[in-house]
Order: sequence, then C-alpha cells, then structure tokens
Amino acid sequence: MFRLANDASPAPMAGSLRDPQGRTLDYLRLAVTDRCNLRCRYCMPSEGIKLVGHQDVLSIEEMQRLGAIFTDLGVRKIRITGGEPLLRKGAVDLIAGLRQLPSSPDVLLTTNGLLLDQNLDALQAAGVKRINLSLDSLDADNWRRITRRDGHDKVLRAMDRILEMGMGLKLNMVVLPGRNEHEIPDFVALTRDRDMSVRFIEPMPFDGAGKPLKAISGDEIMALIHPAYELQPLENPEGAVDKLFAVDGHKGNVGVIEGHSRTFCASCRRLRIDARGGLRTCLYGKSQVDLRAMLRAGCTDDEIVAAVRDAVSRRLEDGLAAEKDSKLGGLESMASIGG
Ligand code: SAM
Ligand code: SF4
Repeated sequence: MFRLANDASPAPMAGSLRDPQGRTLDYLRLAVTDRCNLRCRYCMPSEGIKLVGHQDVLSIEEMQRLGAIFTDLGVRKIRITGGEPLLRKGAVDLIAGLRQLPSSPDVLLTTNGLLLDQNLDALQAAGVKRINLSLDSLDADNWRRITRRDGHDKVLRAMDRILEMGMGLKLNMVVLPGRNEHEIPDFVALTRDRDMSVRFIEPMPFDGAGKPLKAISGDEIMALIHPAYELQPLENPEGAVDKLFAVDGHKGNVGVIEGHSRTFCASCRRLRIDARGGLRTCLYGKSQVDLRAMLRAGCTDDEIVAAVRDAVSRRLEDGLAAEKDSKLGGLESMASIGG
C-alpha cells in the first residue's frame, strides 16, 4: 500500500460510509484527468475546457493513497474515468495498484475507446474485468458531428475486441434529440448477438459551456424502443443507476439512465473525486473537500478520513437538492467532474 513518507499515522479506522439517509457509499468514481481527445458536444465546447494545470491534478501516488483510504472506508468498487482516462500516463499502473489493495476492490474503466487498442491487454492483465464504452452513433459521419473528431472505426473495433477478450461491456449512448435518437433501435439491435448491455443516457447539464441541452426523458427514450422490441424489466444490483431490461430473444440487455430526471438518487452509493482532487458526494453538487490540498499539506490518513466522514454526514437527499445548494449553473464539464 502506498503511503506518503511523512505520514506516520496508523491505518484509518475501518467502518463504512453512511449518509444521513442511511445510504452506504461504497462506489468511488475517480477522474484521473480532465484532458480529452474528443470534444463531445454535450460534454465540452469545441475549443475544449479550461484545463487543470499539470501540477494541480493528483499524482498517481496521491490517487493510490486515496484509494487505500477509501477502500479502508468500505469502498468496494472504483471506476477510473475522466476526461479520457487512457490519456493519463500511469493510469494502467494505478489500476493495477488499486487492485492490489488489501480488499481487492473491483476496478472498472469508462472510456471513449480511442486508445483501447493499445491498452486492452494491459488493462485485462491489471485486473479490469468490465469496461464502459461511450459510443453515441453507429454512423461514422454522425459520430464525427457529435464528437468533432475522427476515430469512429477505432471505437467499433474496441467494442468487438472487449467482447472477444471475454471482458464485460456496457455501451453508453447519450441520447441527443435531433442528432442520434433515431439510432436507438440500431443500438438495441447490437444486443441481439452480443452479450453486453447498451444504456441510453438522458443528457445532463454538464457541457462546460452552460448551453442548455435539448432534453429527453427516460420515458421518451423507452417509447422509442418499444415499437420495435419487447422488453422485460430485469433485477439490477442495489445502487445501480440504470433501469435494466431484457430484450426478447437477445443475448444482451438494454438500460435507461435517468441522469437528468434523477430517479435513482434514493439508492445512490456513489462518491466522486474530480480532476482537481475535490470530493463530491453528488454529481450535481459542488466539491465538498479539497483532498488535494489536504494531501499536499501533509494531513494524516485520520484527518482525511474525518473530512470525508464530515462531507458524507452532510450529503443531501438527492441531486435536485444538491443542484439547488451548489448554484453551479450547469457550467461544469462532465470531463472535469468525472462523469
Ligand atoms: N471520456 C470517457 C468517456 O467518454 O467514456 C470518460 C469520461 S465521460 C465524462 C463519462 C461518461 O459521461 C460518458 O459515457 C459520457 O457520454 C457521459 N457524459 C458526458 N457528458 C454528459 C452529459 N452532459 N450528459 C450525460 N452524459 C454525459
Ligand atoms: Fe471526452 Fe468523454 Fe467528454 Fe466525450 S464524453 S468529450 S470522450 S470526456
């Protein structure tokens, strides 16, 4: 386990993180960078976002130390995200290091897939068993219009290779009215012969520019699937944010994530560390603890644990309350929050 040389404190006291609503927080999403090789319209403007300075992102060692602290606090699942996490030097080593923590947490990855080809073997060797791959169109031209970059073929190749390698796959599609909702049935069709999950996500107000995105609700998304496909609700593990459905005759399944309607807050078990090292207890809330400042001020593990517990003790009941409280005004990019 990595600990800073000046940290002579004993390991933090074990004990899970429970918020005032009684929800156990055992899932951490870690944004390892805010840099990205795409410019998805719903995530950032064409010129990109104001990036965190190189010295201001957490080092791999700092993230490893936080991984140790949070797993001691009961975190069982860590998702590496960003920005594009595979742009971060050392990301695969970090994953391997987190997997080796005493509690062997599940370490997962969310990626746009552009750099998967050269990283998949190492990711599997590091212990990644499931990948969330973002893909918003099956049509190369439409994908380029949404992401403002080239590389669609690489993402499609990555999708097939993940499955060939026997890794779990969830394909995430942000539904953008007027741009890709007509492709929803084609995405469902992908699950006919592939054992994977396709999840349709409501667009959320995190485009880094504060430009309102055209809304579409989970129910409206469902209505676009229904005419062509027979769906059966599936049980989902506690804390999952997607409404999951089996599709008649398909190997895979489909889900809807009502991230804007926020229908899943009552069972949300997530914490986030954003690209600045800020701890967020809700996607819609502001950073509650400057973990980077604490790490660099030489705080002990116990001091960090106390600050995390304090933030968790103030966790609001849902994303609507957190948004009201944060007054952020939708200006942030999902790439810096760590979507
Ligand atoms: N770059 C990686 C990727 O795209 O998979 C990881 C980071 S990205 C911020 C994580 C997820 O957030 C992606 O599935 C992306 O589609 C989603 N996302 C980004 N901005 C969003 C928004 N405004 N509304 C809904 N989902 C969004
Ligand atoms: Fe990059 Fe992911 Fe945001 Fe697209 S959604 S711009 S790939 S961080």
